[in-house]
Amino acid sequence: MNPANTSLAAVPNPSPENVPAPSNFVRDIIVEDVRTKKFGDAAIQTRFPPEPNGYLHIGHAKAICLDFGLADEFGGKTNLRFDDTNPEKEEQEYVDSIMEGVRWLGFEWDGLYYASDYFDQLYQWAIKLIKDAKAYVDDLSADEIRKHRGTLTEPGKDSPFRNRSVEENLDLFERMRKGEFPDGSRVLRAKIDMASPNLNMRDPVMYRILHAEHHRTGDKWCIYPMYDYAHGQSDSIERVTHSMCTLEFEDHRPLYNWFIQQLGIFPSQQIEFDRLSLTYTLLSKRKLLKLVQEKLVSGWDDPRMPTLSGIRRRGYTPEAIRNFVGAIGVSKTNGTLELAMLEHFVREDLNKRAPRVMAVLRPLKVVIDNYPDGQVEEVEAVNNPEDESAGRRNVPFSKVLYIEQDDFREDPPKQYYRLSPGREVRLRYGYFITAKSVVKNDAGEIVEVHCTYDPATRGGNSPDGRKVKSTIHWVSAAHAVDAEVRVYDRMFTKEDPNHVEEGQEFTANLNPQSLEVISEAKVEPSLAAASAGSRFQFERLGYFCVDPDSKPGQPVFNRTVALKDAWARIEKRAGS
Ligand code: ATP
Ligand code: MG
Repeated sequence: MNPANTSLAAVPNPSPENVPAPSNFVRDIIVEDVRTKKFGDAAIQTRFPPEPNGYLHIGHAKAICLDFGLADEFGGKTNLRFDDTNPEKEEQEYVDSIMEGVRWLGFEWDGLYYASDYFDQLYQWAIKLIKDAKAYVDDLSADEIRKHRGTLTEPGKDSPFRNRSVEENLDLFERMRKGEFPDGSRVLRAKIDMASPNLNMRDPVMYRILHAEHHRTGDKWCIYPMYDYAHGQSDSIERVTHSMCTLEFEDHRPLYNWFIQQLGIFPSQQIEFDRLSLTYTLLSKRKLLKLVQEKLVSGWDDPRMPTLSGIRRRGYTPEAIRNFVGAIGVSKTNGTLELAMLEHFVREDLNKRAPRVMAVLRPLKVVIDNYPDGQVEEVEAVNNPEDESAGRRNVPFSKVLYIEQDDFREDPPKQYYRLSPGREVRLRYGYFITAKSVVKNDAGEIVEVHCTYDPATRGGNSPDGRKVKSTIHWVSAAHAVDAEVRVYDRMFTKEDPNHVEEGQEFTANLNPQSLEVISEAKVEPSLAAASAGSRFQFERLGYFCVDPDSKPGQPVFNRTVALKDAWARIEKRAGS
Protein backbone atom coordinates (compact mmCIF):
# COMPACT_ATOMS: atom_id res chain seq x y z
CA MET A 1 0.00 0.00 0.00
CA ASN A 2 1.38 3.38 -0.93
CA PRO A 3 0.93 5.52 2.20
CA ALA A 4 0.76 8.77 0.30
CA ASN A 5 -2.42 7.69 -1.43
CA THR A 6 -4.36 6.33 1.48
CA SER A 7 -6.59 8.08 3.89
CA LEU A 8 -5.63 8.50 7.50
CA ALA A 9 -9.03 7.16 8.36
CA ALA A 10 -8.48 4.07 6.20
CA VAL A 11 -11.69 4.52 4.25
CA PRO A 12 -12.68 1.22 2.71
CA ASN A 13 -13.45 1.56 -1.01
CA PRO A 14 -13.22 5.32 -1.20
CA SER A 15 -15.64 6.63 -3.79
CA PRO A 16 -14.70 9.46 -6.15
CA GLU A 17 -16.56 12.05 -4.11
CA ASN A 18 -14.83 11.17 -0.86
CA VAL A 19 -11.30 10.70 -2.07
CA PRO A 20 -9.40 11.04 1.17
CA ALA A 21 -7.06 13.88 1.91
CA PRO A 22 -3.94 12.86 -0.03
CA SER A 23 -1.53 13.50 2.78
CA ASN A 24 -1.05 15.20 6.11
CA PHE A 25 1.97 16.42 8.03
CA VAL A 26 1.77 13.75 10.73
CA ARG A 27 1.89 11.08 8.05
CA ASP A 28 4.81 12.90 6.44
CA ILE A 29 6.72 12.75 9.74
CA ILE A 30 6.07 9.02 10.04
CA VAL A 31 7.10 8.41 6.43
CA GLU A 32 10.36 10.22 7.12
CA ASP A 33 10.96 8.38 10.41
CA VAL A 34 10.41 5.05 8.70
CA ARG A 35 12.80 6.05 5.89
CA THR A 36 15.55 7.18 8.27
CA LYS A 37 14.89 4.28 10.66
CA LYS A 38 14.60 6.72 13.53
CA PHE A 39 13.31 3.94 15.75
CA GLY A 40 15.41 1.20 14.17
CA ASP A 41 13.28 -1.68 13.00
CA ALA A 42 10.61 -1.09 15.63
CA ALA A 43 7.06 -0.96 14.29
CA ILE A 44 5.11 2.28 14.53
CA GLN A 45 3.43 2.44 17.92
CA THR A 46 0.71 4.97 18.77
CA ARG A 47 -1.74 5.33 21.64
CA PHE A 48 -5.07 6.97 22.24
CA PRO A 49 -4.96 8.42 25.78
CA PRO A 50 -8.37 9.59 27.01
CA GLU A 51 -8.96 10.68 30.55
CA PRO A 52 -11.95 8.68 31.84
CA ASN A 53 -13.76 11.77 33.10
CA GLY A 54 -16.55 11.91 30.52
CA TYR A 55 -17.82 10.41 27.29
CA LEU A 56 -15.94 10.64 24.01
CA HIS A 57 -17.02 13.30 21.57
CA ILE A 58 -16.56 13.93 17.88
CA GLY A 59 -13.28 15.74 18.59
CA HIS A 60 -11.91 12.55 20.10
CA ALA A 61 -13.00 10.75 16.94
CA LYS A 62 -10.47 12.83 15.05
CA ALA A 63 -7.71 11.80 17.46
CA ILE A 64 -8.83 8.15 17.35
CA CYS A 65 -8.85 8.03 13.54
CA LEU A 66 -5.41 9.61 13.51
CA ASP A 67 -3.88 7.33 16.17
CA PHE A 68 -5.40 4.08 14.93
CA GLY A 69 -5.57 5.00 11.25
CA LEU A 70 -1.89 5.89 10.91
CA ALA A 71 -0.70 2.89 12.89
CA ASP A 72 -2.84 0.61 10.69
CA GLU A 73 -1.52 2.25 7.59
CA PHE A 74 2.12 1.63 8.57
CA GLY A 75 1.58 -1.87 9.96
CA GLY A 76 1.97 -0.60 13.51
CA LYS A 77 0.02 -0.91 16.73
CA THR A 78 -2.18 1.31 18.85
CA ASN A 79 -2.79 1.11 22.56
CA LEU A 80 -5.80 2.40 24.37
CA ARG A 81 -4.46 4.02 27.51
CA PHE A 82 -6.64 5.60 30.14
CA ASP A 83 -4.95 8.65 31.51
CA ASP A 84 -6.36 8.16 35.01
CA THR A 85 -4.31 10.50 37.16
CA ASN A 86 -7.19 12.62 38.52
CA PRO A 87 -8.97 10.14 40.81
CA GLU A 88 -11.70 12.56 41.84
CA LYS A 89 -13.11 12.98 38.35
CA GLU A 90 -12.74 9.48 36.98
CA GLU A 91 -15.22 6.63 36.89
CA GLN A 92 -15.65 3.12 35.53
CA GLU A 93 -18.77 4.25 33.62
CA TYR A 94 -16.54 6.52 31.57
CA VAL A 95 -13.98 3.78 30.97
CA ASP A 96 -16.72 1.50 29.62
CA SER A 97 -18.27 4.15 27.40
CA ILE A 98 -14.86 5.07 25.95
CA MET A 99 -14.12 1.46 25.02
CA GLU A 100 -17.54 1.18 23.42
CA GLY A 101 -16.95 4.41 21.49
CA VAL A 102 -13.60 3.33 20.07
CA ARG A 103 -15.05 0.01 18.95
CA TRP A 104 -18.12 1.66 17.47
CA LEU A 105 -15.82 3.78 15.31
CA GLY A 106 -14.40 0.53 13.98
CA PHE A 107 -11.07 0.28 15.80
CA GLU A 108 -9.61 -2.35 18.11
CA TRP A 109 -6.68 -1.59 20.37
CA ASP A 110 -3.61 -3.79 20.72
CA GLY A 111 -2.75 -3.11 24.36
CA LEU A 112 -5.20 -1.85 26.98
CA TYR A 113 -3.41 0.14 29.68
CA TYR A 114 -3.98 2.66 32.41
CA ALA A 115 -1.56 5.34 33.54
CA SER A 116 -2.30 3.93 36.99
CA ASP A 117 -0.61 0.67 35.88
CA TYR A 118 2.59 2.69 35.95
CA PHE A 119 2.23 4.40 39.33
CA ASP A 120 4.96 2.20 40.88
CA GLN A 121 7.36 2.77 38.00
CA LEU A 122 6.64 6.51 37.97
CA TYR A 123 7.31 6.62 41.69
CA GLN A 124 10.66 4.84 41.26
CA TRP A 125 11.63 7.27 38.52
CA ALA A 126 10.71 10.20 40.74
CA ILE A 127 13.12 8.84 43.36
CA LYS A 128 15.80 8.59 40.71
CA LEU A 129 15.25 12.24 39.76
CA ILE A 130 15.47 13.24 43.44
CA LYS A 131 18.72 11.32 43.79
CA ASP A 132 20.07 13.06 40.70
CA ALA A 133 19.12 16.41 42.28
CA LYS A 134 16.58 16.94 39.50
CA ALA A 135 13.54 17.04 41.77
CA TYR A 136 12.65 18.47 45.19
CA VAL A 137 9.83 18.60 47.68
CA ASP A 138 8.32 22.05 47.97
CA ASP A 139 6.27 23.22 50.96
CA LEU A 140 4.89 26.30 49.25
CA SER A 141 1.12 26.38 48.80
CA ALA A 142 -0.36 26.16 45.30
CA ASP A 143 -1.02 29.87 45.48
CA GLU A 144 2.54 30.72 46.46
CA ILE A 145 3.90 28.49 43.74
CA ARG A 146 1.78 30.36 41.24
CA LYS A 147 3.07 33.69 42.52
CA HIS A 148 6.68 32.50 42.33
CA ARG A 149 6.24 31.31 38.77
CA GLY A 150 6.57 34.76 37.18
CA THR A 151 5.01 35.78 33.89
CA LEU A 152 5.82 35.65 30.20
CA THR A 153 7.88 38.85 30.64
CA GLU A 154 9.27 38.27 34.14
CA PRO A 155 11.37 35.32 35.29
CA GLY A 156 10.17 33.22 38.21
CA LYS A 157 11.58 33.19 41.73
CA ASP A 158 13.20 30.19 43.38
CA SER A 159 11.25 28.54 46.14
CA PRO A 160 13.01 28.73 49.52
CA PHE A 161 12.81 24.91 49.53
CA ARG A 162 14.51 24.50 46.16
CA ASN A 163 17.90 23.58 47.55
CA ARG A 164 16.92 20.96 50.05
CA SER A 165 19.38 18.08 50.33
CA VAL A 166 18.77 14.84 48.46
CA GLU A 167 18.35 13.05 51.80
CA GLU A 168 15.73 15.47 53.03
CA ASN A 169 13.86 15.27 49.72
CA LEU A 170 13.92 11.47 49.74
CA ASP A 171 12.63 11.44 53.30
CA LEU A 172 9.86 13.96 52.67
CA PHE A 173 8.75 12.31 49.42
CA GLU A 174 8.58 8.93 51.15
CA ARG A 175 6.49 10.47 53.92
CA MET A 176 4.25 12.15 51.35
CA ARG A 177 3.59 8.70 49.92
CA LYS A 178 2.92 7.22 53.35
CA GLY A 179 0.19 9.76 53.97
CA GLU A 180 1.83 11.78 56.71
CA PHE A 181 0.85 15.14 55.22
CA PRO A 182 -2.50 16.67 54.37
CA ASP A 183 -3.68 17.42 50.84
CA GLY A 184 -2.04 20.45 49.31
CA SER A 185 0.67 20.81 51.95
CA ARG A 186 3.59 19.69 49.79
CA VAL A 187 4.39 18.82 46.18
CA LEU A 188 7.27 17.23 44.33
CA ARG A 189 8.67 19.53 41.66
CA ALA A 190 11.15 18.99 38.87
CA LYS A 191 14.25 21.17 39.28
CA ILE A 192 14.71 22.75 35.87
CA ASP A 193 14.93 26.51 35.37
CA MET A 194 12.86 29.21 37.07
CA ALA A 195 14.00 31.69 34.42
CA SER A 196 13.05 29.61 31.40
CA PRO A 197 11.07 31.56 28.80
CA ASN A 198 8.75 28.52 28.73
CA LEU A 199 6.63 28.64 31.88
CA ASN A 200 6.13 24.90 31.78
CA MET A 201 9.86 24.50 32.44
CA ARG A 202 9.82 26.62 35.62
CA ASP A 203 10.07 23.73 38.05
CA PRO A 204 6.75 22.06 37.16
CA VAL A 205 4.88 20.04 39.76
CA MET A 206 5.33 16.29 39.33
CA TYR A 207 3.27 14.97 42.27
CA ARG A 208 0.59 16.36 44.51
CA ILE A 209 -0.93 14.94 47.68
CA LEU A 210 -4.52 13.81 47.25
CA HIS A 211 -6.18 11.50 49.74
CA ALA A 212 -8.71 10.28 47.20
CA GLU A 213 -10.08 6.88 46.29
CA HIS A 214 -8.92 5.92 42.80
CA HIS A 215 -11.30 3.96 40.55
CA ARG A 216 -8.62 1.28 40.08
CA THR A 217 -5.92 1.60 42.73
CA GLY A 218 -8.36 2.32 45.56
CA ASP A 219 -6.56 3.92 48.51
CA LYS A 220 -3.14 2.52 47.70
CA TRP A 221 -1.87 5.97 46.77
CA CYS A 222 -2.34 9.36 48.30
CA ILE A 223 0.10 11.07 45.96
CA TYR A 224 -0.74 11.27 42.27
CA PRO A 225 1.47 12.20 39.29
CA MET A 226 0.59 15.26 37.23
CA TYR A 227 -0.28 14.86 33.54
CA ASP A 228 3.07 16.21 32.37
CA TYR A 229 5.03 13.76 34.46
CA ALA A 230 2.80 10.75 33.76
CA HIS A 231 2.14 11.14 30.08
CA GLY A 232 5.54 11.02 28.42
CA GLN A 233 6.80 8.31 30.74
CA SER A 234 3.72 6.19 30.04
CA ASP A 235 4.37 6.67 26.32
CA SER A 236 7.95 5.63 26.84
CA ILE A 237 7.04 2.50 28.82
CA GLU A 238 4.78 1.46 25.94
CA ARG A 239 7.51 2.35 23.43
CA VAL A 240 5.20 4.77 21.67
CA THR A 241 7.01 6.13 18.62
CA HIS A 242 4.51 8.84 17.68
CA SER A 243 2.48 10.40 20.46
CA MET A 244 -0.13 12.64 18.87
CA CYS A 245 -1.94 15.25 20.90
CA THR A 246 -3.67 18.56 20.34
CA LEU A 247 -1.90 21.89 19.86
CA GLU A 248 -2.34 23.20 23.40
CA PHE A 249 0.40 20.75 24.41
CA GLU A 250 2.97 22.23 22.05
CA ASP A 251 4.49 24.28 24.90
CA HIS A 252 4.67 21.15 27.01
CA ARG A 253 6.86 19.31 24.51
CA PRO A 254 10.19 20.56 25.97
CA LEU A 255 9.10 19.17 29.34
CA TYR A 256 7.96 15.91 27.76
CA ASN A 257 11.44 15.57 26.27
CA TRP A 258 13.23 16.73 29.43
CA PHE A 259 11.83 13.93 31.61
CA ILE A 260 12.60 11.30 28.98
CA GLN A 261 16.19 12.59 28.59
CA GLN A 262 16.85 12.80 32.35
CA LEU A 263 15.58 9.26 32.82
CA GLY A 264 17.34 7.91 29.72
CA ILE A 265 14.29 5.94 28.65
CA PHE A 266 12.70 5.12 25.27
CA PRO A 267 12.57 8.37 23.26
CA SER A 268 8.88 8.71 22.44
CA GLN A 269 8.12 11.86 20.46
CA GLN A 270 5.16 14.13 20.82
CA ILE A 271 3.49 15.59 17.71
CA GLU A 272 0.75 18.20 18.00
CA PHE A 273 -2.18 18.68 15.62
CA ASP A 274 -5.20 20.97 15.51
CA ARG A 275 -8.20 20.43 17.73
CA LEU A 276 -11.50 19.85 15.98
CA SER A 277 -14.10 22.54 16.55
CA LEU A 278 -17.51 22.73 14.90
CA THR A 279 -19.96 25.59 14.65
CA TYR A 280 -22.99 25.44 16.98
CA THR A 281 -21.22 22.70 18.94
CA LEU A 282 -19.24 22.45 22.17
CA LEU A 283 -16.48 19.88 22.43
CA SER A 284 -15.43 20.01 26.04
CA LYS A 285 -16.11 17.17 28.41
CA ARG A 286 -16.41 19.59 31.30
CA LYS A 287 -19.18 21.56 29.59
CA LEU A 288 -20.94 18.48 28.28
CA LEU A 289 -20.87 17.08 31.82
CA LYS A 290 -22.59 20.25 33.03
CA LEU A 291 -25.39 19.74 30.50
CA VAL A 292 -25.85 16.19 31.76
CA GLN A 293 -25.65 17.06 35.46
CA GLU A 294 -28.08 19.95 35.16
CA LYS A 295 -30.44 17.76 33.13
CA LEU A 296 -30.40 20.18 30.21
CA VAL A 297 -30.16 17.07 28.03
CA SER A 298 -31.50 13.57 28.66
CA GLY A 299 -28.00 12.13 29.20
CA TRP A 300 -24.59 11.67 27.59
CA ASP A 301 -26.35 9.87 24.74
CA ASP A 302 -28.96 12.53 24.09
CA PRO A 303 -29.10 12.62 20.27
CA ARG A 304 -28.32 16.36 20.35
CA MET A 305 -25.02 15.75 22.11
CA PRO A 306 -21.78 15.70 20.08
CA THR A 307 -20.71 12.62 22.04
CA LEU A 308 -20.12 9.39 20.13
CA SER A 309 -23.00 7.81 22.04
CA GLY A 310 -25.21 10.80 21.17
CA ILE A 311 -24.47 10.88 17.46
CA ARG A 312 -24.75 7.12 17.32
CA ARG A 313 -28.22 7.24 18.85
CA ARG A 314 -29.03 10.05 16.46
CA GLY A 315 -28.18 7.75 13.54
CA TYR A 316 -24.75 8.92 12.42
CA THR A 317 -22.64 6.06 11.06
CA PRO A 318 -19.03 5.32 12.00
CA GLU A 319 -18.21 5.28 8.28
CA ALA A 320 -19.50 8.84 7.91
CA ILE A 321 -17.37 9.99 10.84
CA ARG A 322 -14.26 8.29 9.46
CA ASN A 323 -14.84 9.79 6.02
CA PHE A 324 -15.31 13.22 7.55
CA VAL A 325 -12.15 12.98 9.64
CA GLY A 326 -10.20 11.68 6.66
CA ALA A 327 -11.35 14.58 4.54
CA ILE A 328 -10.57 17.35 7.03
CA GLY A 329 -7.00 16.17 7.58
CA VAL A 330 -4.77 17.69 10.23
CA SER A 331 -2.95 20.98 10.45
CA LYS A 332 -0.87 23.15 12.75
CA THR A 333 -3.49 25.85 13.31
CA ASN A 334 -6.82 25.59 15.09
CA GLY A 335 -9.93 26.55 13.19
CA THR A 336 -13.65 25.92 13.29
CA LEU A 337 -15.44 23.80 10.71
CA GLU A 338 -19.04 24.12 9.63
CA LEU A 339 -21.40 21.70 11.32
CA ALA A 340 -23.03 21.48 7.88
CA MET A 341 -19.86 19.84 6.58
CA LEU A 342 -20.16 16.99 9.07
CA GLU A 343 -23.83 16.61 8.19
CA HIS A 344 -22.89 16.44 4.53
CA PHE A 345 -20.74 13.37 5.20
CA VAL A 346 -23.52 11.77 7.22
CA ARG A 347 -26.00 12.31 4.41
CA GLU A 348 -23.58 11.04 1.81
CA ASP A 349 -23.04 7.80 3.69
CA LEU A 350 -26.69 7.25 4.59
CA ASN A 351 -27.69 7.89 1.00
CA LYS A 352 -25.77 4.74 0.08
CA ARG A 353 -26.93 2.49 2.87
CA ALA A 354 -30.31 3.64 4.23
CA PRO A 355 -33.42 1.86 2.89
CA ARG A 356 -36.17 4.20 1.68
CA VAL A 357 -39.54 4.05 3.36
CA MET A 358 -42.64 6.21 3.49
CA ALA A 359 -43.65 8.04 6.65
CA VAL A 360 -45.92 11.00 7.26
CA LEU A 361 -44.94 13.28 10.12
CA ARG A 362 -48.02 15.54 10.20
CA PRO A 363 -50.86 13.51 8.75
CA LEU A 364 -53.75 14.82 6.65
CA LYS A 365 -56.41 12.30 5.65
CA VAL A 366 -57.02 11.75 1.95
CA VAL A 367 -60.08 9.79 0.81
CA ILE A 368 -60.14 8.49 -2.75
CA ASP A 369 -63.82 8.57 -3.51
CA ASN A 370 -63.75 6.38 -6.62
CA TYR A 371 -61.46 3.69 -5.12
CA PRO A 372 -63.39 0.52 -4.18
CA ASP A 373 -64.32 0.31 -0.48
CA GLY A 374 -62.38 -2.36 1.36
CA GLN A 375 -59.91 -2.99 -1.47
CA VAL A 376 -56.20 -3.28 -0.60
CA GLU A 377 -53.45 -3.46 -3.21
CA GLU A 378 -49.78 -4.06 -2.69
CA VAL A 379 -47.72 -1.60 -4.69
CA GLU A 380 -44.08 -2.32 -5.32
CA ALA A 381 -41.52 0.13 -3.94
CA VAL A 382 -37.77 0.38 -4.51
CA ASN A 383 -35.79 -0.03 -1.30
CA ASN A 384 -32.76 1.94 -2.34
CA PRO A 385 -32.21 3.45 -5.78
CA GLU A 386 -28.48 3.70 -4.88
CA ASP A 387 -28.22 -0.01 -4.21
CA GLU A 388 -29.95 -2.46 -6.57
CA SER A 389 -29.20 -5.34 -4.15
CA ALA A 390 -31.44 -3.78 -1.51
CA GLY A 391 -34.37 -5.08 -3.59
CA ARG A 392 -38.02 -4.14 -3.48
CA ARG A 393 -40.89 -4.37 -1.05
CA ASN A 394 -44.66 -4.18 -1.15
CA VAL A 395 -46.53 -1.31 0.44
CA PRO A 396 -50.29 -1.54 1.02
CA PHE A 397 -52.49 0.98 -0.80
CA SER A 398 -56.16 1.59 0.00
CA LYS A 399 -59.00 4.08 -0.21
CA VAL A 400 -58.01 6.17 2.82
CA LEU A 401 -54.45 7.46 3.05
CA TYR A 402 -52.41 9.97 4.98
CA ILE A 403 -50.30 12.60 3.31
CA GLU A 404 -48.29 15.47 4.86
CA GLN A 405 -50.36 18.50 5.80
CA ASP A 406 -47.73 20.50 3.93
CA ASP A 407 -48.48 18.66 0.71
CA PHE A 408 -51.97 20.15 0.40
CA ARG A 409 -53.04 23.79 0.03
CA GLU A 410 -56.64 24.83 -0.43
CA ASP A 411 -55.35 28.12 -1.84
CA PRO A 412 -52.02 27.27 -3.45
CA PRO A 413 -49.47 30.06 -3.72
CA LYS A 414 -47.68 30.56 -7.05
CA GLN A 415 -45.22 27.77 -7.82
CA TYR A 416 -46.87 25.44 -5.33
CA TYR A 417 -47.20 22.26 -7.37
CA ARG A 418 -48.34 19.80 -4.76
CA LEU A 419 -51.94 18.81 -4.14
CA SER A 420 -54.62 21.50 -4.30
CA PRO A 421 -58.24 21.56 -5.53
CA GLY A 422 -58.36 20.50 -9.18
CA ARG A 423 -54.61 19.69 -9.27
CA GLU A 424 -53.37 16.20 -10.22
CA VAL A 425 -50.27 14.77 -8.47
CA ARG A 426 -48.54 11.40 -8.30
CA LEU A 427 -48.67 9.30 -5.17
CA ARG A 428 -45.22 7.70 -5.02
CA TYR A 429 -45.40 4.12 -6.44
CA GLY A 430 -49.21 4.47 -6.45
CA TYR A 431 -51.56 6.38 -8.71
CA PHE A 432 -52.26 9.87 -9.99
CA ILE A 433 -54.89 11.56 -7.83
CA THR A 434 -56.81 14.80 -8.25
CA ALA A 435 -58.15 16.79 -5.29
CA LYS A 436 -61.87 17.54 -5.48
CA SER A 437 -63.10 18.91 -2.16
CA VAL A 438 -62.25 19.32 1.50
CA VAL A 439 -63.99 18.62 4.79
CA LYS A 440 -63.38 21.08 7.65
CA ASN A 441 -63.97 20.87 11.37
CA ASP A 442 -65.81 23.47 13.44
CA ALA A 443 -62.59 25.44 13.81
CA GLY A 444 -62.34 25.71 10.04
CA GLU A 445 -59.32 23.38 9.79
CA ILE A 446 -59.13 20.93 6.91
CA VAL A 447 -59.50 17.40 8.25
CA GLU A 448 -60.05 15.46 5.02
CA VAL A 449 -59.30 15.93 1.37
CA HIS A 450 -61.48 14.07 -1.10
CA CYS A 451 -59.84 13.00 -4.32
CA THR A 452 -60.36 10.80 -7.34
CA TYR A 453 -57.73 8.51 -8.80
CA ASP A 454 -56.98 7.32 -12.32
CA PRO A 455 -56.78 3.48 -12.29
CA ALA A 456 -54.70 3.56 -15.49
CA THR A 457 -51.80 5.23 -13.68
CA ARG A 458 -50.97 2.32 -11.37
CA GLY A 459 -47.28 2.31 -10.44
CA GLY A 460 -47.13 6.04 -10.97
CA ASN A 461 -47.13 6.48 -14.74
CA SER A 462 -49.84 7.57 -17.11
CA PRO A 463 -50.20 5.48 -20.32
CA ASP A 464 -51.24 8.60 -22.23
CA GLY A 465 -48.01 10.37 -21.28
CA ARG A 466 -49.81 12.86 -19.06
CA LYS A 467 -47.36 14.72 -16.81
CA VAL A 468 -47.75 15.82 -13.20
CA LYS A 469 -45.51 18.34 -11.53
CA SER A 470 -45.28 16.73 -8.15
CA THR A 471 -44.87 13.36 -6.46
CA ILE A 472 -45.86 13.03 -2.84
CA HIS A 473 -45.45 10.31 -0.25
CA TRP A 474 -48.28 8.68 1.67
CA VAL A 475 -49.22 5.80 3.94
CA SER A 476 -52.39 3.74 3.95
CA ALA A 477 -54.48 4.80 6.97
CA ALA A 478 -55.69 1.33 7.82
CA HIS A 479 -52.17 -0.09 7.72
CA ALA A 480 -50.18 2.79 9.15
CA VAL A 481 -48.21 2.35 12.35
CA ASP A 482 -48.34 5.18 14.87
CA ALA A 483 -44.92 6.55 15.63
CA GLU A 484 -43.21 9.23 17.61
CA VAL A 485 -40.65 11.26 15.73
CA ARG A 486 -38.05 13.43 17.45
CA VAL A 487 -36.80 16.20 15.23
CA TYR A 488 -33.55 17.84 16.27
CA ASP A 489 -32.12 21.19 15.47
CA ARG A 490 -28.67 22.52 16.35
CA MET A 491 -28.02 22.51 20.07
CA PHE A 492 -26.86 26.11 20.36
CA THR A 493 -28.15 29.28 18.76
CA LYS A 494 -24.69 30.79 18.31
CA GLU A 495 -22.01 29.63 15.91
CA ASP A 496 -19.61 29.91 18.82
CA PRO A 497 -21.56 28.75 21.88
CA ASN A 498 -18.76 29.99 24.13
CA HIS A 499 -19.49 33.54 23.08
CA VAL A 500 -21.69 34.97 25.85
CA GLU A 501 -22.75 38.34 27.16
CA GLU A 502 -21.20 39.45 30.42
CA GLY A 503 -22.48 37.52 33.40
CA GLN A 504 -23.88 34.72 31.23
CA GLU A 505 -22.81 31.14 30.90
CA PHE A 506 -22.59 29.08 27.73
CA THR A 507 -25.91 27.47 28.66
CA ALA A 508 -27.56 30.80 27.79
CA ASN A 509 -26.86 29.90 24.16
CA LEU A 510 -28.79 26.63 24.25
CA ASN A 511 -31.37 26.48 21.47
CA PRO A 512 -34.81 26.14 23.09
CA GLN A 513 -36.06 24.62 19.82
CA SER A 514 -33.40 21.93 19.58
CA LEU A 515 -35.95 19.16 20.11
CA GLU A 516 -39.42 18.89 18.65
CA VAL A 517 -41.43 15.82 19.48
CA ILE A 518 -44.02 14.82 16.90
CA SER A 519 -46.29 12.25 18.45
CA GLU A 520 -48.87 11.74 15.70
CA ALA A 521 -46.62 10.47 12.90
CA LYS A 522 -47.77 7.57 10.71
CA VAL A 523 -45.27 5.19 9.16
CA GLU A 524 -45.60 2.36 6.69
CA PRO A 525 -46.25 -1.07 8.24
CA SER A 526 -42.80 -2.48 7.37
CA LEU A 527 -41.43 -0.27 10.17
CA ALA A 528 -43.54 -1.80 12.96
CA ALA A 529 -40.76 -4.15 13.98
CA ALA A 530 -37.73 -2.06 13.04
CA SER A 531 -35.01 -2.63 15.62
CA ALA A 532 -33.31 0.09 17.62
CA GLY A 533 -30.41 1.60 15.72
CA SER A 534 -31.72 0.81 12.24
CA ARG A 535 -31.59 3.71 9.86
CA PHE A 536 -33.96 4.75 7.10
CA GLN A 537 -34.57 7.48 4.65
CA PHE A 538 -38.13 8.72 5.01
CA GLU A 539 -38.78 9.69 1.42
CA ARG A 540 -38.68 13.44 0.86
CA LEU A 541 -38.05 14.13 4.57
CA GLY A 542 -34.62 13.01 5.67
CA TYR A 543 -32.76 10.25 7.44
CA PHE A 544 -34.18 8.74 10.60
CA CYS A 545 -32.95 6.19 13.12
CA VAL A 546 -34.95 3.96 15.44
CA ASP A 547 -34.48 5.04 19.05
CA PRO A 548 -34.00 2.54 21.90
CA ASP A 549 -37.10 4.06 23.54
CA SER A 550 -39.20 2.21 20.91
CA LYS A 551 -41.64 -0.46 22.03
CA PRO A 552 -43.02 -3.26 19.86
CA GLY A 553 -45.55 -1.73 17.46
CA GLN A 554 -44.74 1.78 18.77
CA PRO A 555 -41.53 2.87 17.13
CA VAL A 556 -39.74 6.08 18.09
CA PHE A 557 -37.53 7.70 15.45
CA ASN A 558 -34.79 10.28 15.72
CA ARG A 559 -34.25 12.52 12.77
CA THR A 560 -30.58 12.09 11.97
CA VAL A 561 -30.40 14.81 9.36
CA ALA A 562 -32.78 16.42 6.89
CA LEU A 563 -32.38 15.79 3.17
CA LYS A 564 -31.53 19.35 2.29
CA ASP A 565 -27.79 19.72 2.09
CA ALA A 566 -26.69 23.14 3.27
CA TRP A 567 -23.03 22.21 2.88
CA ALA A 568 -23.37 21.24 -0.77
CA ARG A 569 -24.86 24.68 -1.37
CA ILE A 570 -22.09 26.43 0.53
CA GLU A 571 -19.50 24.54 -1.50
CA LYS A 572 -21.25 25.30 -4.75
CA ARG A 573 -21.45 28.97 -3.92
CA ALA A 574 -17.77 29.02 -3.00
CA GLY A 575 -16.88 27.30 -6.25
CA SER A 576 -18.95 29.49 -8.53
P1 ATP B 1 -11.87 17.77 26.73
O1 ATP B 1 -11.37 19.18 26.72
O2 ATP B 1 -13.10 17.55 25.92
O3 ATP B 1 -11.95 17.21 28.11
P2 ATP B 1 -9.39 16.50 26.51
O4 ATP B 1 -8.35 16.88 25.54
O5 ATP B 1 -9.18 16.91 27.93
O6 ATP B 1 -10.77 16.97 25.96
P3 ATP B 1 -8.70 13.77 26.72
O7 ATP B 1 -9.50 12.66 27.28
O8 ATP B 1 -7.51 14.20 27.47
O9 ATP B 1 -9.69 14.98 26.49
O10 ATP B 1 -8.34 13.49 25.20
C1 ATP B 1 -7.82 12.29 24.68
C2 ATP B 1 -7.20 12.60 23.35
O11 ATP B 1 -8.14 13.17 22.47
C3 ATP B 1 -6.08 13.61 23.50
O12 ATP B 1 -4.99 13.20 22.72
C4 ATP B 1 -6.68 14.88 22.99
O13 ATP B 1 -5.70 15.74 22.48
C5 ATP B 1 -7.66 14.38 21.93
N1 ATP B 1 -8.76 15.33 21.74
C6 ATP B 1 -9.62 15.80 22.66
N2 ATP B 1 -10.45 16.71 22.13
C7 ATP B 1 -10.12 16.83 20.82
C8 ATP B 1 -10.62 17.62 19.73
N3 ATP B 1 -11.62 18.49 19.87
N4 ATP B 1 -10.04 17.46 18.52
C9 ATP B 1 -9.04 16.59 18.35
N5 ATP B 1 -8.52 15.82 19.33
C10 ATP B 1 -9.05 15.93 20.56
MG1 MG C 1 -7.99 16.37 29.39
